[in-house]
Amino acid sequence: MKMQYVSTRGLAPAQTFSQILLGGLASDGGLYLPDQYPVFRPDELAAMQRMTYRELAVTILSRFADDIPVEDLRALIEKTWTPDVFGYARAGDDMNDITPLHTLEPGLHLLALSNGPTLAFKDVAMQWLGHLFEYVLARNNSTLNIVGATSGDTGSAAEYAMRGKRGIRVFMLSPRGKMTPFQTAQMYSLQDDNIFNIAVNGVFDDCQDMVKAISNDLPFKETYHIGAVNSINWGRIAAQIVYYFKAYFSAADHVGQQISFAVPSGNFGNACAGHIARMMGLPIAKLVVATNENDVLDEFFTTGIYRPRVAAQTWHTSSPSMDISKASNFERFIADVLGRDSMALRELWQQVDRGEAIDLRAKGVWERMSAYGMVSGANTHASRIATIRHTWQKYGTVIDPHTADGLAVALANRESGVPMVVLETAQPAKFDDTVREALGFLPQRPAALAGLENLPQRFVEMGIDVVQLKRMIVSKTGWE
Ligand SMILES: *Cc1c(COP(=O)(O)O)cnc(C)c1O
Repeated sequence: MKMQYVSTRGLAPAQTFSQILLGGLASDGGLYLPDQYPVFRPDELAAMQRMTYRELAVTILSRFADDIPVEDLRALIEKTWTPDVFGYARAGDDMNDITPLHTLEPGLHLLALSNGPTLAFKDVAMQWLGHLFEYVLARNNSTLNIVGATSGDTGSAAEYAMRGKRGIRVFMLSPRGKMTPFQTAQMYSLQDDNIFNIAVNGVFDDCQDMVKAISNDLPFKETYHIGAVNSINWGRIAAQIVYYFKAYFSAADHVGQQISFAVPSGNFGNACAGHIARMMGLPIAKLVVATNENDVLDEFFTTGIYRPRVAAQTWHTSSPSMDISKASNFERFIADVLGRDSMALRELWQQVDRGEAIDLRAKGVWERMSAYGMVSGANTHASRIATIRHTWQKYGTVIDPHTADGLAVALANRESGVPMVVLETAQPAKFDDTVREALGFLPQRPAALAGLENLPQRFVEMGIDVVQLKRMIVSKTGWE
């Protein structure tokens, strides 16, 4: 019996891993989750302790992607998490660790998740998705046109994962002139035939509206095999579970010891993966959810009220990849807290979808929350700057603003005797201005990326014009 994936809202048919991989939301508007999480017993954990990153990935992901022959899965994994792809390691890193642990002081560690091609943690999962999509499409003799909107990080991670992949094209909309020169150069300097950068004369929300218009046009979507790689993609969540295990085995003195993780959070994809790792038997004491000034998640974990914001109430901060108003993966976590009561979840998310707040205290759910080890905190610009400065002065380590949010909130939630692992979600080189504000000098950039901004750039300009976007997709695709 293959693992069955069921919708959080309970009205969509159960499907297998490959069936849900390329889709987005379930047909009932919910998110897919395995009907049961696989659990590793203590003796199994002990056996996993000395595995390499890739062996761990095979052991964990074969439980989730169980409708792909394990030898094929292994081949995809061997291509994905290599020292070559995750080559922007720092001095002293073991290149085969892929996500090396950097110890700041005994019991306090950074988990380096940002050694991939775009210097941010999204590469860890997205690179796998690139190989996985190509494999599944070839098996089904199909093709995919990925249409997305980005304000910087997600788009570049998607493009670097999908470049050169057979059967896949990427149409990525970005707000013209609104990204940093580094981010712009990262994306626009790609010369691959299957990557189309579209610079929209508008803001990020305009880009997102154009993508929504495309995905709401069901006949167009079907005819032109339109897909997405957004943060609700189950394949991404599954891949992120692996590094919690890897980090645990690196940081624990012995298997069985409780360890806490601090997670700089936006759409709650990363934290959700940590929650699932914990459900799978990994001894995680606390999952520390760190937000910036956009504190919708911190508000929930401290009050029990989840109050999504509108775009106008979403602040632009100096940890921009966490500027979210609605945490798209949060529904998955609440589904577990509700004991997979899909009717209760449906009622709550009908409110969320109308833009209303939901109160989990009223449902008697709040008491059950303590079993999940979640704590939280919100960080501010001033504290972000102070944390970057303090970390440099005390440990000689330069961190990026998102990791600073994680570290600041982690320090406020440390328990004696419990090691704390802070997830480093980006390299400081991506955020020159904030690092210079904190330290008075620019972060070091990997040598291979010197002069990135001077490379020739390839993009097309477009107005806020869905008809033109469709015309472009059609012209690149033809009838298939
Ligand atoms: C995307 C991102 C985050 C937030 O991760 P979620 O999974 O959306 O919670 C944090 N930091 C960086 C650098 C990111 O790119």
